[in-house]
Amino acid sequence: MYPRIRFRRLRKSQKIRDFVSETSLEVKDLVYPIFIDENLKKKKEIPEMPNQYRFPLGQLEEPINELLELKIPAVILFGIPSYKDSIGSSAYAKDGVIQKAIKEIRGIAGEDLIVIADLCLCEYTDHGHCGLVKNGKILNDETLEIYGKIAVSQAEAGADMVAPSGMMDGMVMAIREALDKEGFTDTSILSYAVKYNTVLYTPFRYAAESGYKFGDRSTYQMDIRNSDEAIREAKADIEEGADIIMVKPSFLDIIYRVKTELKYPTATYCVSGEYVMLKAAANYLNEKNNVLEYHICRKRAGADIIITYYAKDLARWLQEK
Ligand SMILES: [Zn+2]
Repeated sequence: MYPRIRFRRLRKSQKIRDFVSETSLEVKDLVYPIFIDENLKKKKEIPEMPNQYRFPLGQLEEPINELLELKIPAVILFGIPSYKDSIGSSAYAKDGVIQKAIKEIRGIAGEDLIVIADLCLCEYTDHGHCGLVKNGKILNDETLEIYGKIAVSQAEAGADMVAPSGMMDGMVMAIREALDKEGFTDTSILSYAVKYNTVLYTPFRYAAESGYKFGDRSTYQMDIRNSDEAIREAKADIEEGADIIMVKPSFLDIIYRVKTELKYPTATYCVSGEYVMLKAAANYLNEKNNVLEYHICRKRAGADIIITYYAKDLARWLQEK
């Protein structure tokens, strides 16, 4: 009780505040998303996401070396293929955009960078949905086999981790079985276990050309009103063999619940909509301080890993401290 207890004693100086701090955001926590576009000849800024680019194959040296210099440990890759069809066959083609990109990055970075391949169909299908479609419905079980094929092709190309984002039931188990069957027992699965249906993905759809032609994603992505369901989703993915579970977008209450209730390696994705909100806020408050605070809050909530378009800025800011 006051006056014996004075909280301000431990706030007296920066040294003491750092000494007793409970959470820290570090460069080693960060993952940077990269878009690779098979149709491009040179890098192109994404108009909906200021300061973010799509890169052509064969020119990944610049972005990859930048990450290596900043000591960012991991990338997550999104491919934009030149060919799309109803089953997304470019997603598992041996010479597909993502397979080529993985090989190119391995050639540049060797083992110095963790290469995570996003695994979905929406960038590769002509209808833009994350699964196969029949009579206007997104099929679950029929899609799983294709996810398995994509996983194997990404592992063959050299991915350390595959990250299924399509929210099909049973996807983690199907991918684990497909990988193991081909001998890729050491390829990890970072599952988008808890992925909400939200407007916050809008800029990404332009960035990755994954907008859908009909309907929406509400029959497979989660309803934002639910939180117990997030625990059930994450638990199911752990049981199916996920190595890391992800919460997307980076909703703080969900990160907190998933981490405290399941005690499993937990990643979160600060999505394109969060990125543009933070960019817009920079018109009104200090961008660096706001963005640092925003990401520290995700760590405090329980995230071990943060995928963010701000990874490079954060790495610079953290290193200058
Ligand atoms: Zn998708």
